[in-house]
Amino acid sequence: MKLILLGPPGAGKGTQAQRLVETHGLVQLSTGDMLRAAVKNGTPVGLKAKDVMARGELVSDEIVVGIIEDRIAEPDCAKGFILDGFPRTVAQAEALDAMLAKSGMKLDAVIELKVDEGILVGRIEKRVAEMTARGEPVRADDNAEALKKRLDAYRAQTAPVSDYYASKGALKTVDGMAPIDDVTKAIAGHLGV
Ligand code: ADP
Repeated sequence: MKLILLGPPGAGKGTQAQRLVETHGLVQLSTGDMLRAAVKNGTPVGLKAKDVMARGELVSDEIVVGIIEDRIAEPDCAKGFILDGFPRTVAQAEALDAMLAKSGMKLDAVIELKVDEGILVGRIEKRVAEMTARGEPVRADDNAEALKKRLDAYRAQTAPVSDYYASKGALKTVDGMAPIDDVTKAIAGHLGV
């Protein structure tokens, strides 16, 4: 199964992706996690992405498309994957279509988690508090200023990705305000599993 999870920062994509990994043995492909690993390891991609990410802006399409293209060609992705945080622009969605067509792959579902923007800041503040309590480092972009930019980027650049898939009749929406287990069930319902 190959699917995309769409939704703003704090919508719960990572939580739901993790559950699908556990229940369906899919691979989670989070461009945010991959980029953070690149920054941590000081790779050439990481060096380019570091400041852009810390500001809450989007890394270039070229970089993330390259990362995903390499990653989905790995053998563990043959069984299926969940794209979490990609595509984030219409150009990325078009590049994804082209790379899937080239490798004879097809998407099974595009699922959008719908949430009220008003609750997102609170959810992210809660995540920061929980990470701090666990002694984990806080993300460089989990601060008020960068978060505002991430939400702006979502509205301007990523919301049109939902329209892109909706116009192809491929978009399914789920109420991301519902309790976590209910969101999981709604996603399973859309996947027919
Ligand atoms: P969140 O959804 O919580 O904002 P992510 O972990 O998905 O966070 O992404 C963190 C940051 O990584 C983004 O703000 C952006 O700078 C960069 N990033 C992740 N995925 C992409 C992408 N597909 N295109 C461009 N930039 C990306």
